[in-house]
Amino acid sequence: MSHRDVLQRAANLAVGYLDGIAERPVGPPVAVDRLRAALGGPLPEKGEDPRVVVESLASGVEAGLVASCGPRYFGFVIGGALPATVAADWLTSAWDQNAWTYAASPAGSVAEEVAAGWLVELLGLPAGTSVGFTTGATMASFTALAAARSAVLRRVGIDVEEEGLAGAPPVAVIVGDAVHATVLAALQMLGLGRGRVRRVATDDQGRMDAEALRDVLAICHGPTIVCAQAGEVNTGASDPLAEIGKLTREHGAWLHIDGAFGLWAAASPKLRHLVTGVEQADSWSTDGHKWLNVPYDSGFVFFRSREALRQAMSLDAAYYAMSEKGERDNFLCVPESSRRARGFTVWAALRSLGRAGVREMIERCCSMAQRMAARLCDDPGVELLNDIVLNQVLVRFLSRGGDNADAFTREVIRRIQADGTCWLGGTRWRGRAAARISISNWSTAEADIDRSADAILRCLRELR
Ligand SMILES: *Cc1c(COP(=O)(O)O)cnc(C)c1O
Repeated sequence: MSHRDVLQRAANLAVGYLDGIAERPVGPPVAVDRLRAALGGPLPEKGEDPRVVVESLASGVEAGLVASCGPRYFGFVIGGALPATVAADWLTSAWDQNAWTYAASPAGSVAEEVAAGWLVELLGLPAGTSVGFTTGATMASFTALAAARSAVLRRVGIDVEEEGLAGAPPVAVIVGDAVHATVLAALQMLGLGRGRVRRVATDDQGRMDAEALRDVLAICHGPTIVCAQAGEVNTGASDPLAEIGKLTREHGAWLHIDGAFGLWAAASPKLRHLVTGVEQADSWSTDGHKWLNVPYDSGFVFFRSREALRQAMSLDAAYYAMSEKGERDNFLCVPESSRRARGFTVWAALRSLGRAGVREMIERCCSMAQRMAARLCDDPGVELLNDIVLNQVLVRFLSRGGDNADAFTREVIRRIQADGTCWLGGTRWRGRAAARISISNWSTAEADIDRSADAILRCLRELR
């Protein structure tokens, strides 16, 4: 069997899906039994023709696909995949490179090297910053905090890679009260204990209070790591990074910034003020699969010091073919050995958009968020909960009598999701139920915002 038939069939199926994406109900409810029936059954004894397999897969999953790469999906912070990146992702699979070392894939190495340099420039991070390509921001933060742990303990004479944490002094980890759950997950995996963090108070937008940080730092005497945030998942607000950077430096602590989507503000001269001082950190994490609009899995970890990263991610075996002339061995930047060539899709995104295209995409999503907020706030049944500084809109729905707004908000959200014009999710913000609208897709246009706002208001009015 040649590859041609099966790959062409897959290409036709993919194009058919993407051609219909804008008109597909966005996140229709599906009974899990239906998917289990379509995909399940006993493990087959005998293999099947790959063309049949691809057809069966496509028809079996159809009802359970969420049009999250389409223009009216506003849940979580998802982003779509740019056409050039989908194509690059297909090729990444076809080439099937193990991009761990230069020897295993010179192309996989150089694509990451080049894309890394472009990302550092685009985000205005210090020249010479090292970059690891991870599965997402969770693993980016894990990698960054592993290096942070290593660096702050090394300063007190502990080699944590060799000796582990037994016998090491406690590491103080400071986070904002609105820290993302995945930063806590990284700490829990690193033996730093998510329950041991010191939380700093935040304001009504979820921004860390720098004065409160000063007080917390004053009582941290040993090795210390501060985790700040660019882009709170509900409001989009960023911590006061310039002040945090100054305080952390004075204290001699390590500063990590989780900027899974918010770091992209740095790519726009209009929005960069939101992350002023961002360049002062020791490490940063962000996602490619969110706002850069490359397919899953794509995240980036950035390091000011290559040394800290090298130490934390060191790994060697006699048969490993390490490059000797300064070529990039990708695996030394991430906690993995064999890995997908993640640089190709990122390279394709940056070539396809260019600096101006990235800027324009980020700014457009933010102006779409403004438009959505303005449209929704026309209705007295909508209460806006955040300042729209970035791409996030946080609202609450009010029943006519005004009582039990939590339950009413959740009911409106369910109706919007079932309606299928757009998809948005719920959250709790400062103790109250709210709806989150996150705009991070390259293809979302004004007409999508208007159509979605109409649908949201229709669902609200039906319930009011
Ligand atoms: C999405 C997100 C993460 C986690 O990123 P993944 O790509 O899902 O691993 C971390 N922090 C913030 C602020 C996020 O929005």
